[in-house]
Amino acid sequence: MKTLLIICDGMADRPIPALGYKTPLEIADTPNMDWLAKRGISGIMDTIAPGTTPGSDTAHLALLGYDPYQTYTGRGPFEAAGAGIDLKPGDIAFRVNYATVDKNLVVTDRRAGRIQETKALAEAIQNIKLKGAEFIFRSTVGHRATLVLRGKGLSHEVSDSDPHEEGKKPLKVVPLLQSEEGAVPAYPIIAGGVRKYVMRRRWAAKTAKLLNEFSQRAYEVLKKHPVNIERAKNGLPPANYLLIRGGGVVPHLVPFYQRFRIKGACVAAAALVKGVCKLAGMTVVDVPGATGGVNTDLNAKAKAALQQLQDHDLVLLHVKGSDEASHDGNIKAKIEIIERVDSIINQFIDSFDFIAVTADHTTSISVKNHTADPVPVVISGPGVRTDDVRTFSERAAAKGGLGRIRGKYLLPIIIDLMGKSSKFGA
Ligand code: ZN
Ligand code: ZN
Repeated sequence: MKTLLIICDGMADRPIPALGYKTPLEIADTPNMDWLAKRGISGIMDTIAPGTTPGSDTAHLALLGYDPYQTYTGRGPFEAAGAGIDLKPGDIAFRVNYATVDKNLVVTDRRAGRIQETKALAEAIQNIKLKGAEFIFRSTVGHRATLVLRGKGLSHEVSDSDPHEEGKKPLKVVPLLQSEEGAVPAYPIIAGGVRKYVMRRRWAAKTAKLLNEFSQRAYEVLKKHPVNIERAKNGLPPANYLLIRGGGVVPHLVPFYQRFRIKGACVAAAALVKGVCKLAGMTVVDVPGATGGVNTDLNAKAKAALQQLQDHDLVLLHVKGSDEASHDGNIKAKIEIIERVDSIINQFIDSFDFIAVTADHTTSISVKNHTADPVPVVISGPGVRTDDVRTFSERAAAKGGLGRIRGKYLLPIIIDLMGKSSKFGA
């Protein structure tokens, strides 16, 4: 039995006045999704919990059956895993921006003129060695990069150096656990005892110190790097500073196969989603042409999903464009990408036994951000207890036989339908 799980990022929405109080999914022409609804079971789903607004990373952790409250400390590890860095549980990972600072160390451009070619810069930075931790640095897309610290006695509980706005100096990284007077607050006595708290504080202080040293060394390397001298000559802002943020500790996730006894593959362009799937031990496929934006090559993704079908039981196909269009408040683009996703579904109908379609969260066009509204979900395939739902949308799905479920139950439900679940009890 083979399953395709299509996750359209942020596809779900709220009623929009400009659409006569309908949602983009209700307006979009989706004959294939409607067909799935007719021969499937529908429902609505709180990816994490009712009233909790998910990020894409925490939502995907939940959809893969992990408790985000146990496994998530920041997005750094998932970005780093998505960038192809081989991470170990306990590594501390950060997101990094190449930025421009002036001679007074004031940030003049948080994205260094959206610099594209940073390979040579990254190589120079990778040569920085500091006592106390191993530093792994890699450029990802454009002005973005990731930084991983590996070693003993490190912590993710440190502040960002990114001031998050221009015209300010990069911030000094400080341990987040330090109270103002340096005293031990009362609450950690409950959370693991004073000794553990003191240890955590020491680790955070060490990590903060290392990051400050690293930032200084990176600045010295970058400001005289030939790439930046060349950029300055051409009137381009030099990428002479690294802004660090989003620290998190790499969790130990029980691998997908061990958990569900099926092999999973992930076809996605978004680094964050690739990272979650990679850390979950799924096969992560790189699809050339799939940019992750509204104009992503969906046919290339469909082809990749069909290829993974050969040696995997479940393929997760992720589409990012629906979320991007929503953050931009672009109704037309959102409807278009939903229709484009719909148009590739018929390629899968003969190849997969089960097809499920859902979103990782609602991204409201009106709010231009994620909201906690539940998302619609449909599962279609042999043996599914069908219901009366005839179309795929937020409101239609709410009348379906699945009722209202949590994200962490979606895979167990699918795996049971696939005949792969084991009995609890005699
Ligand atoms: Zn998302
Ligand atoms: Zn989003």
